[in-house]
Amino acid sequence: MLIECTNCNIHLEAETIGEFLSAYSDDPIDSAKYSLFKCPKCFNPILTEQTMDFDNVDYQLAFGNIKILYPNSEFHLNPIIPEKLRDSLKESIKCFRANSYTATAIMCRRTIEGFCFLKGVKDKNLAKSIEKLKTNGIINEQLYEWANELRLVGNEAAHNIEIEFSVVDSRDILDFTIAILDFTYSFKDKFDRFKERQSK
Ligand SMILES: [Zn+2]
Repeated sequence: MLIECTNCNIHLEAETIGEFLSAYSDDPIDSAKYSLFKCPKCFNPILTEQTMDFDNVDYQLAFGNIKILYPNSEFHLNPIIPEKLRDSLKESIKCFRANSYTATAIMCRRTIEGFCFLKGVKDKNLAKSIEKLKTNGIINEQLYEWANELRLVGNEAAHNIEIEFSVVDSRDILDFTIAILDFTYSFKDKFDRFKERQSK
């Protein structure tokens, strides 16, 4: 069956390993089909679910659209992240979904640049700005390392015509960018507020 491997970010003919039909009641509309596939490219498992639905042509009950349960392809964007940065991340995700991996890296670098700006840090270049985020205590050593690596990778993506990014690299770049913002805006801010309450 032609199925999307969210790990490889492509549709491919995957081998069926097993199937399971579940019935929540005697009514056929309550049954669902679970299938386990093996991706022929990365060999990872893919678990899908199909629930019963009336098809559009002859209104017969049949198994409907395939929903991928595993691996989870959804990128979780914390609503607490400022809108401008979320918009930038959404665009990075769009690039990734369209298999534009160089564009993904460039968009992630842009997001980090926007993050510095919104945190009120503007130095003569991005390297200095990221350093300032660390000295100002906005990011810790670990996040500094990630942000700096994203900057370097983004530079390569923007200026080196020879460079190519794999789906795995691109996915990691995106995940690290999301993690930096998620950590800063949800956990760090929350922890700072918590500490402030404790000191009162
Ligand atoms: Zn795969």
